[in-house]
Amino acid sequence: MRTFFFLVLLLPTLVLSEDNLVIVISMDGLRHDYPEISTSGGFEFIKKNGLEADSLIPVYQSTTYPAHVSMATGVHPNKHGILHNSFFDKERGHYSYSPESDWIDVRPVWTILEEEGIKTATYFWVGSETDWNGIQITYSKFPFSSRVSETTKINQIIEWLELPNEERPQLIMTWWHGVDSVAHKLGSSKEIVKKQLLKQDKHLLDLIKEIEDRSLWDEVTLIVVSDHGMTDISNLINVKEILDAHSIEAILSLGPSIGHIFLKNLEETELAINVLEKNKLLKVLKKTKVPDYLNHPKRTGDIVITTKSPNMLVKKVYSHPPLGMHGYDPAINEEMKGIFFAYGRGVKKKKLKQVDQVDITPTILNLLGLEVPDYMDGEALLLD
Ligand SMILES: [Zn+2]
Repeated sequence: MRTFFFLVLLLPTLVLSEDNLVIVISMDGLRHDYPEISTSGGFEFIKKNGLEADSLIPVYQSTTYPAHVSMATGVHPNKHGILHNSFFDKERGHYSYSPESDWIDVRPVWTILEEEGIKTATYFWVGSETDWNGIQITYSKFPFSSRVSETTKINQIIEWLELPNEERPQLIMTWWHGVDSVAHKLGSSKEIVKKQLLKQDKHLLDLIKEIEDRSLWDEVTLIVVSDHGMTDISNLINVKEILDAHSIEAILSLGPSIGHIFLKNLEETELAINVLEKNKLLKVLKKTKVPDYLNHPKRTGDIVITTKSPNMLVKKVYSHPPLGMHGYDPAINEEMKGIFFAYGRGVKKKKLKQVDQVDITPTILNLLGLEVPDYMDGEALLLD
C-alpha cells in the first residue's frame, strides 16, 4: 500500500504520482574531474541546465560491487555485507561476482518500491539479477554482459518510458561501462580516458534528447553517478608471500586496499601481525580493533590490513599488472571521488559540494514520495 498519508506532512513539495519516474545511471570508474574533459555532451548539458556536485564520496572499499550495493541500499558495506567484488564468509564460503542477491544483508531499493506496489526496472545493477527474499523486480535484464552497448540500454529505457502509466516502471537503474576498463589497463590520466569518456558523454546526451523528444522531462528525474574514481598504482604488495615466508596458513580475502586474513590457526595471530607490520606500507589491525565501518560479523578477517595508493594488495604474481586502480579510502586518496549530476523533475539548476554515495537511495525514495527508513546511513539530497 502506498504511503499517501505521509506525503502531505513530510514532503509538501513532492507529490507521489504514477507519472513520476527516476532514472539512475552509474558510469563505472568516472573520477570527479573526468567530465571536465568534454564540453559538448550530456555532462555539459546538465551543468548548464541542471545540478552538478563537486564530487561524490564513495564508500570504502571503493570497488564496483560494494559501491553499487551501497547506492541501492543506502548503507555502508559493513551493513549490506558486500565487502568487495569477491570475499570470504565464515559460514557460506567464497563469494565472487555472484548474481545471488541473498548475499546482500539489507533490502535493495527496488524491493522497497515493489512492496509499495511501485514497478521498478534494472538494466544491469549489482544485486538485481535475482529476487531478493522472493521479491521480484518487475523488469530486469540479465544475465550481466559487458557486450551490451549503451545504445541497447537507452533503447530499452525509452521502451519502458513509453509504456502506459499502469505498466511503466517508476525507477530505472542501469550500469554503464564508464571508463573503468581502459583506466585499469592503461592508467588513470585524463588523456588516457578521454576517448571513452567522450563516447559515454555522447550516449548521455542521446538519452537526454530522447526524453526531450517525448516531452517527458516534467515527469522524469535523471541522476548520473559513478561507483568510484581512479588512480595510478605502481607497487604490488604480495600478502601471500609475506605469510608463506613464515609458514602461516590463512584464507586471504583481498581487495586492492583492504585485506581480510582468516587464519587457520588463531594462535598465530600475533606472529602474523608482527610479520605484516614489517611492511611499513600496511596498516595492520586485529579483528577486535577494527573500526565499525570495516566490521562485518562473518566477513571481516581475524586480521585486517589496509593500504593506500600507489600500493595494491595481491596474492599472486602478475605478468601484466594493472596501471589504474580504485578501492582506496576516499578520505586518504581523493582520486577515489566520483561524480553526481541530476536533471529533470524536482531538480533546480544549482551546484552541490560533496554528496555521499549512501545518499542515493534516500534521494530516490524522496523523489518518489516515500519515507526514508531510519537505518539508512545516508539522507535525501535537496535537489530543488
Ligand atoms: Zn567500478
